[in-house]
Amino acid sequence: MTQGQRLLARWLSRNEPEPPPVAALLPTGNALQLLLDDRGRVVQIHGALNHGLTPVKEGAEPKLLLDYLMPGSTQALEGTPAQWTGQMIDLDFRGADQQVLRTRGWVQPQAEGWLLQVIDISDLQRDSQQARVNAHNSDLIHSIGQQLRQCDMARLPAVMLEALQQVAEHWRVPGMALALRTDTHLGWRLYSAYHAFDTPQLWTTGQTLGTALDGLNECAPIPVSAKQADNQWLISLFGNAEGLLVPFRDQSGASAWLLLGFYSAPSGGAQTSVRDWLQVCATIAGPLQDRLRAQHYEQQRERMEALQGLLGTGWWEWLQTTRQMQLAPQLSASLLPALESVSLSREAWLALFHPADRDEISSGFTALLEQGTPLLLCARVHQPQGTEPAQWYRIQGQVLGKGAGRRIVGFMLDVSDIKNQQLQAAAAQARLGNVIARSPAVIYVQRYVEGALVPEFFSESLQPLLGLGLDDCSGSALIERIHPDDREHYLERTRQLLREGSARGRYRLRDQQGNYHWLLDEAKLLRDDLGLPVEAVGLWLDVTEATEVAERVRHSEERYRILVEDSPAMICRYLPDLTLTFGNRPLANYLECAPEQLPGINLASWLSQEQHEAFLQRMASLTPELPVSTAEISLQLPGREHAWWVWSDRGIFDGQGQLLEIQAVARDNTEVRRSQQQLTHGAKMATLGEMATGLAHEINQPLNVMRMAIVNVLKRLSNGDVQIDYLQEKLTRIDAQIQRAARVVDHMRVFGRRSEIEQQLFNPAQSLEGTLALLGEGLRGKGVEIRSDGLNCSVHVRGHTDQLEQVLINLLVNARDALLSKCETDRDFKPWIALSSERAGNCVRLWVQDNGGGIDPRLLERIFEPFFTTKPVGVGTGLGLSVSYGIIDNMGGRLSVSNTEHGARFCVELPVVDEG
Ligand code: ADP
Repeated sequence: MTQGQRLLARWLSRNEPEPPPVAALLPTGNALQLLLDDRGRVVQIHGALNHGLTPVKEGAEPKLLLDYLMPGSTQALEGTPAQWTGQMIDLDFRGADQQVLRTRGWVQPQAEGWLLQVIDISDLQRDSQQARVNAHNSDLIHSIGQQLRQCDMARLPAVMLEALQQVAEHWRVPGMALALRTDTHLGWRLYSAYHAFDTPQLWTTGQTLGTALDGLNECAPIPVSAKQADNQWLISLFGNAEGLLVPFRDQSGASAWLLLGFYSAPSGGAQTSVRDWLQVCATIAGPLQDRLRAQHYEQQRERMEALQGLLGTGWWEWLQTTRQMQLAPQLSASLLPALESVSLSREAWLALFHPADRDEISSGFTALLEQGTPLLLCARVHQPQGTEPAQWYRIQGQVLGKGAGRRIVGFMLDVSDIKNQQLQAAAAQARLGNVIARSPAVIYVQRYVEGALVPEFFSESLQPLLGLGLDDCSGSALIERIHPDDREHYLERTRQLLREGSARGRYRLRDQQGNYHWLLDEAKLLRDDLGLPVEAVGLWLDVTEATEVAERVRHSEERYRILVEDSPAMICRYLPDLTLTFGNRPLANYLECAPEQLPGINLASWLSQEQHEAFLQRMASLTPELPVSTAEISLQLPGREHAWWVWSDRGIFDGQGQLLEIQAVARDNTEVRRSQQQLTHGAKMATLGEMATGLAHEINQPLNVMRMAIVNVLKRLSNGDVQIDYLQEKLTRIDAQIQRAARVVDHMRVFGRRSEIEQQLFNPAQSLEGTLALLGEGLRGKGVEIRSDGLNCSVHVRGHTDQLEQVLINLLVNARDALLSKCETDRDFKPWIALSSERAGNCVRLWVQDNGGGIDPRLLERIFEPFFTTKPVGVGTGLGLSVSYGIIDNMGGRLSVSNTEHGARFCVELPVVDEG
């Protein structure tokens, strides 16, 4: 700007009343002087701008001032020059090449007219317009910056997008985005992207750009054009259109790029220069970065605080000026819950710790203060109440900086967990060590050296246990100490250990005194990362005693096994479901199979339904207090006759009293049974013999009657005096007698049979009746009165009808004998036998009573003995009562005798069976 222009500009801007002198303006290159006549016509034109002026209208001379001006370019220039003086006039002249010459000037009177002096103010106008634009721009970016700085953090992305939109609309950029550097390997990322509504979308918010932006020159904006083929990535990022990349730099280099899409960088002199974009970018990216960084730091701080809280850690700092210890809030909260202050004197700080640890902390702290020795120790917090477990802190401190900037800082970390675990582990280790030292165990380590395992360590228990030390077991000394019989076993153990990684064995080792100890050896091979053996760790357990005891038990077991095997008794074990688990040889022999075939056989397969039930019932009655029961059982062995075993059980119970298994010893009683049966049968036969005499009478009677009847009929026939009625009557009598004889014979046959094996249910009244049918007539024939009222019991007992009948016959025959012998001495004697029955609770009683004078009280106890008789030889066998006793006993009942005032009274008592 020339001196003249400056003067003029000052005048123009300050609106000074007096214009600068023309002389000052004339030499300027951009002034114009027009001499006008009174009507405003241009008489002369001077000045540097003269040549460019072109009148609007050609032709007529001189032209009006208006003819040189652009139409409508100025305020109304009406009237004459005389009216234009004293004011500033802006005039737009038409310049050469259709250019407009913007001028400002004034009119001054001149001797021969009016002098219009104007000066080119195009620059001035452009500058002020530029200044206005700049001011507007700066207002805009200032307000954007402010919004970005002040908005709520949550709204930051939205505000950022608005900011991009404002800038884009203001500078007419169709697409705009801001890329920020991320902390991750993803490199750059678009924080925000804006596109005018009619613009193709180049970018999206959140889009990642990788690290390609890192290679760009970050000092100046970079125009992007499809013509620059050197960076294809960039060209495609801008959609093959023109664009501009504007960097934002902070201390660490480029931290943001503003992307301007579909935008051609203006050439120099334009409203917005490429440089201006740097400022725009800085205005947007700067506050954004600050906000994001602040947020990042805030989050970091929160995380740190949370972490410190979680870890029970916190910083401390020794303030040298105030000589106070400052603690992090969370530390002071946990250490000093009652205090608000976080600053403590050295003494108060030390007082926080256990008295036992204070000296150590104090001296360490002094060394830190004076020599700068880093502090590192663990200390307990002082808990006056002595609450357990102790609270441990690791205290660390160091000196930072030098001179005036020297600081003493550190942190405290709650290590109670670790410390208490360490203490527990140490205590456990000490206990373990103690236990090992006292136990019959030795821990050893054998190092792997070229395929061999060389003893390297033995726990101290080696000495008390075997009287040996490491030297006694090193090298070949160990193998020599092993019992010669076990050496191969030991070598195999080593081979297995190396092959499979673990081994377990038992061998004998000689101690210092020369005694052998049985050692149980458990070893494990440890390998390195490559799987190569490093060492074997193992345990020797002295099991001498246990081994010897086991040996003794084995011998004892062997002895018992032989005892069981060789026992003549049958021995077996079976489960509560009657499945055999073991049976000895005699049992197997009896069953004609091998002992190994016995387990699995079910005993029930040899038992009848009835026997099975009785068996289970008996088993159920076993208790841990009364685990033993004995019974005679009858077995039905396939293809064999019935076997009778005396079977003795012993239940084996668990801790809860649950029956686990039963051990049984059996003795074959079949022979005894059979002879008993034979005896019974023999006695029965004897009874039968006894009866034969009586029976002869019984049979004779009908025979006599029949003979009489036949004789009578024959007599009538020979007389020819036979009436049908008479004949019928005689024949009916004969028939009745035949039937009577047949009944007697029939019953004799039943009686003569052998008893069934199994007992049956029957009504004892039947036996009474059967007995009377057999003997009644005979007795009556002998003058004995039979009193048999009250035989009407209808109950059931278990046993054999014929056997009960045999008992009753015996009793009747004995009564008869007693009565008949009394008859011989006393002619007037009226003999009678009374039969009666009664139900008493769960029993039924049958009474046989006579008036034969009874039994000598001295003999009462003996009459049930076998072969006891008072009858003459050949008459009595002495078996009747003893067999009878056995029969009733077998039925679960009792046969007893007593004397009444008339004679003997026998009582047969039998248990009644409910017919449920
Ligand atoms: P036997 O009849 O063969 O002698 P028993 O065993 O039946 O054998 O009887 C034994 C003895 O008991 C008899 O010899 C007899 O002395 C005595 N005896 C049995 N029943 C009576 C009775 N009703 N009255 C008197 N004595 C009896």
